[in-house]
Amino acid sequence: MKASCILCDCTFSPDPKQAKKLRKHPHRIFLCPECHQRIRERTLARKSAEKQPSIRKERH
Ligand SMILES: [Zn+2]
Repeated sequence: MKASCILCDCTFSPDPKQAKKLRKHPHRIFLCPECHQRIRERTLARKSAEKQPSIRKERH
């Protein structure tokens, strides 16, 4: 089973957990592990930025 990544358009083999979800929701969008990792890092960075208001200034 292949899933395609919305960010980089590559196809990848989902891990067993993703494959199960994919079977239930064939039209669901998935990220490849690379993009998933990137998003996760960004999300974590944003979360830590929210905890520390001083870092938020760097967005400008
Ligand atoms: Zn990707």
